[in-house]
Amino acid sequence: MSRLPAVARTLPALRRALDALRTRRATIALVPTMGALHDGHLALVRQARRRASKVVVSIFVNPTQFAPHEDFGSYPRTWKADMEKLAAERADLVWNPGVDIMYPPNFATRILPEGPATANLEDRFRPHFFGGVATVVGKLFTQCRPDIAVFGQKDYQQLKVVTRMAADLDLGVKVIGVPTVRERDGLAMSSRNVYLSSDQRAVAPILHRTMKDAAKRLRNGDDLKTVMADGARTIEHAGFALDYFEARHAETLAPIPSITDGPIRLLVAAKIGTTRLIDNIGV
Ligand code: AMP
Repeated sequence: MSRLPAVARTLPALRRALDALRTRRATIALVPTMGALHDGHLALVRQARRRASKVVVSIFVNPTQFAPHEDFGSYPRTWKADMEKLAAERADLVWNPGVDIMYPPNFATRILPEGPATANLEDRFRPHFFGGVATVVGKLFTQCRPDIAVFGQKDYQQLKVVTRMAADLDLGVKVIGVPTVRERDGLAMSSRNVYLSSDQRAVAPILHRTMKDAAKRLRNGDDLKTVMADGARTIEHAGFALDYFEARHAETLAPIPSITDGPIRLLVAAKIGTTRLIDNIGV
């Protein structure tokens, strides 16, 4: 069995562990996660391993990015399995602060992202989400001072928000996006997939299939509005409650009037039962 990574749970312990990693010419990559690790997360760790000499993975289920009605309390927590997976990927350090370390009493400062964070996609349905994400990622960056940070394209709007924030606040961190890792039937891997019943799991790949069909039709020159309306209908007929299925500019996330205004990214969010799934692909 591979050696388990070192674990830091307090800021002094984190500083000591980082000092030990920061030998001459070492570069540090940070992979922020909420744990419940799957192959999507591990692809980020592998990319981090390739691009830096030391890999720090944070595991922190961030309460401030969940709304009161969301799943903070029931979010899967699989510490032992996570550590074994990270050992196999040769991660060097796991930063696992408690909520009281991240948000001590009297905590009163937040990062409020704009631009991609107000694109009227996820932010329309989860109004406090990107404020929570930007604040915690900003803290993780200043705590760990990585050279690079690796995020998944699975959370495409989040990737754009974090990239913008790192540049705007001169955090000195290069943000890298990794393509979405999927199950064999196309379903994007997600820690929340464990919530799906077997019937729901059977239907879930329709999101990816619908996006792929739509992308193909758009590449063939079909009318944008018609393609998107057809896709939305397919998703709803499959039993999803659709939050959005949209074609946006891949960089700015602005709505696009026609397919010549691309590059286009298709983004979808839909609920099946009580589980909300998101996904996206390039056209
Ligand atoms: P989470 O633990 O869900 O907050 O995700 C932590 C990081 O893993 C984020 O940068 C996600 O975008 C990324 N991620 C989650 N699922 C996948 C996936 N299926 N493929 C690639 N990256 C992913």
